[in-house]
Amino acid sequence: MTTAEDDTRASALARIRDVVGPPGWIDEPDRLTPYLTEWRGLYHPKATAVVRPASTVEVAAVVRLCAEAGIGIVPLGGNTGLCGGAAPYEHGRDIILALERLNRIRAIDPLNYTITVEAGVILAQVQQAADAADRLFPLSLGAEGSCQIGGNLSTNAGGTGVLRYGNARDLALGLEVVLPDGQVWDGLRALRKDNTGYDLKHLFIGAEGTLGIITAAVLKLFPRPKQVETALIAVPDPDAAVALFALARTGSGDAVSAFELMPRNGIDLALAHVPGTVDPLAEPAPWYVLAELSEPVADTHLKEKLEAILEQAFERDLVQDAVIAASVAQARQLWFLREAIVEAQRVAGASIKHDVAVPVARVPELIRRATEAAAAAMPGAAVIAFGHVGDGNIHFNLCQPPDADAAAFTARTHEINHLVHDIVTSMTGSISAEHGIGRLKRDELAWRKSPVELELMRKVKGVLDPAGIMNPGKVV
Ligand SMILES: Cc1cc2nc3c(=O)[nH]c(=O)nc-3n(C[C@H](O)[C@H](O)[C@H](O)COP(=O)(O)OP(=O)(O)OC[C@H]3O[C@@H](n4cnc5c(N)ncnc54)[C@H](O)[C@@H]3O)c2cc1C
Repeated sequence: MTTAEDDTRASALARIRDVVGPPGWIDEPDRLTPYLTEWRGLYHPKATAVVRPASTVEVAAVVRLCAEAGIGIVPLGGNTGLCGGAAPYEHGRDIILALERLNRIRAIDPLNYTITVEAGVILAQVQQAADAADRLFPLSLGAEGSCQIGGNLSTNAGGTGVLRYGNARDLALGLEVVLPDGQVWDGLRALRKDNTGYDLKHLFIGAEGTLGIITAAVLKLFPRPKQVETALIAVPDPDAAVALFALARTGSGDAVSAFELMPRNGIDLALAHVPGTVDPLAEPAPWYVLAELSEPVADTHLKEKLEAILEQAFERDLVQDAVIAASVAQARQLWFLREAIVEAQRVAGASIKHDVAVPVARVPELIRRATEAAAAAMPGAAVIAFGHVGDGNIHFNLCQPPDADAAAFTARTHEINHLVHDIVTSMTGSISAEHGIGRLKRDELAWRKSPVELELMRKVKGVLDPAGIMNPGKVV
């Protein structure tokens, strides 16, 4: 880097500091630490500063200055992403642009069933605002108390409500985006129909901050459920779970709003490591389904429908035992058990993770084949295969054998990923169902995607961000 380039950089950083003022600028090492702590501990990010603009105008001014000086920008939401997408590289010359001060709910329109929010609003706050207006914002995931709507859209987050309401992409009607040259694209339309050329918002959704910075969004709302029935159902195997899912959809008039698969060893891990978890059934079973049925109107006898579904399933040997939550508190406890499987793996030791998807009907085959391959490659490692079976999305994780060395175990991550992803690819599945690519899967994406698809992605990146300043080195 020449002295002239150094001067340009220093002057741009000073002007950025002026734009955002003291509340918007952090460069002291101890205050930087939380922004540089990556959730899974896979990376050790470094950045020149964290910049915290308070408005779209400030975001645009910061991006313009970065573009002029060629400074890389890493957008940051709630920092709960699982692929290192918000982790700047260790050279430390990029800035983090945190959206946390863009945290206003700009409008809620119950008649149009829409809410307009800034990117830094936390997902749980969007849900609460919708609830207060007797509406439902259905995106729901374990990190909802920390992740931000801009991060959810940028990763096209999934979660537990996808099978009924779709993923983040399906819930967005319009976006406001700051482009890599600092221009603002105001696409905040609240329309259900708009066929006026390319639908540009879809470029930015799921782009993980590589094409621009989402600053606000118009999101779809739905009628709030008036009846919810939650059941924990013991099943003999994943084949029974998939058959039960089909039965539940037909038998309930498509009222299934969540359908999660859990293995017994995942439940055991949760019971051992997460305080407050309770085993609700008397006898252990090999697999469980956590099913939720919901209706936007009262008095449609949803509980009776669920009981009839379970009765039929018992007769067909699809179900071994079941408990229907008798109260909201009990339903919460069942959901807590499901979420605790994630936390328990963190506490229990090292794990090798996969976030994969295949067509729903092929989930049992995926679990069978991947388990056999994992057992052959790594005898003694426990497979915990769980997740959103109703979407065909399984988190297929291997936990280190109790006596194994954690470092030696994780050193084999790429080898095991390769093995599992080969099986997924042979089933025309996805190697990243809902978490994204970030840093973690960038190199693998480069050889798993077809040359045509990869070239298209690179061309889009080149057109929108020719200088490569937006989230450098991520995704493509
Ligand atoms: C306990 C737990 C459970 C989880 N469960 C699920 C789940 O069920 N389903 C699921 O899909 N994910 C899940 N995740 C992953 C994660 O919560 C989601 O990916 C979430 O959408 C990330 O949001 P965030 O605000 O934390 O984004 P960050 O982690 O801050 O950022 C994620 C990516 O988006 C970019 N970005 C962030 N904000 C913006 C913006 N405004 N404009 C442009 N780019 C931006 C970042 O640069 C980065 O590339 C889980 C994570 C945890 C820790």
